[in-house]
Amino acid sequence: VKMHFGEFGNTRYIRPIFARWVVDFVKECGGQPFLTDTTSLYKHHRHTLFEYLQCAAINGFTYEGMGCPIIIADGLKGTGMVIKVENAFYLDEVKVAQAIYEADAMIVLSHPTLHPEFPIAGALKNVGMGCTTKEAKMKMHSKGAKPTFVVEACVRCYMCVKVCPVGAWEKVEGGGVRFIEERCVSCGDCVAYCKGGAIRVAWGAGLDKVQGGVLDAVKAVFATFDAGKIAFISIATDITPACDCQPSGLPIVPDIGFLASTDPVAIDKATFDLIQEAVVYPTSMLERKLAANPTDGDDDKVKPFWASLDSDAFWQLVVKSKLGNLDYELVRISL
Ligand code: SF4
Ligand code: SF4
Repeated sequence: VKMHFGEFGNTRYIRPIFARWVVDFVKECGGQPFLTDTTSLYKHHRHTLFEYLQCAAINGFTYEGMGCPIIIADGLKGTGMVIKVENAFYLDEVKVAQAIYEADAMIVLSHPTLHPEFPIAGALKNVGMGCTTKEAKMKMHSKGAKPTFVVEACVRCYMCVKVCPVGAWEKVEGGGVRFIEERCVSCGDCVAYCKGGAIRVAWGAGLDKVQGGVLDAVKAVFATFDAGKIAFISIATDITPACDCQPSGLPIVPDIGFLASTDPVAIDKATFDLIQEAVVYPTSMLERKLAANPTDGDDDKVKPFWASLDSDAFWQLVVKSKLGNLDYELVRISL
């Protein structure tokens, strides 16, 4: 069961009880489930196997609570299998994390949110970025936009030094930091964690390449499973403006429900559409942004947060990837 156990300090990740339901269901069907994710590229509390297991335990994901092992799929040292990608956009080879590669079947349990690089961070992102090693993640990010540094805004919190996976930020004598741009792989995490708003990025630049790389990675991961051995469940609750790697605020819309499909594209598109149709969560950041600029979110709730992200262009890219269908039939079930 591939999921995200939540970054330390994020409180909007998938509730452990929801994961437990999936685990119990797999057991009832005769499977031997384990919950899994890979270490993060950025350096916070999920960067190494040890850090991530500790973070997962703090967030409620333990063997005792879940009734199955918690496995960090890329292991101690980023172990994985290099898989060739047919008709790739950008990445001809992708290193798939070892435990994902070895699994016989996979339930992709996603927590959809908005994201600076994707109109929806759901099943596709959970697979493409989440089932691969740091080496692959770095390749996916490397074609994206690099940040700029506004020195006057720096409050010397040094989060950039802490989270950057490639040492592109260094402390300088007398206080403050310097940015070594040539080392940057465009992961965007210093931007997310900068407490002074001193690190800025033109998110639009290179987005299609990051998205294309992630879709290539999805193909690589799918190639390691037999047909019919992957299913997707998306827990569309607590939908925040950014993903579970980042500190969370109020959701942008009320809880929508759970979605399930065998098609990763259909489930992401259906979730995206349901978010667009939903009312705005009172007192949320979205409500405040729309109050300031009422026309901003007229046609797309992504825009008030990530203005340069073109949702239509993303869906066109997804169609070209042939990973699934944008068309879907929504069958509503009340339990
Ligand atoms: S965007 Fe560049 S500088 Fe910032 S954390 Fe990522 S790699 Fe480091
Ligand atoms: S994260 Fe931002 S505010 Fe903190 S030291 Fe780095 S540039 Fe300065």
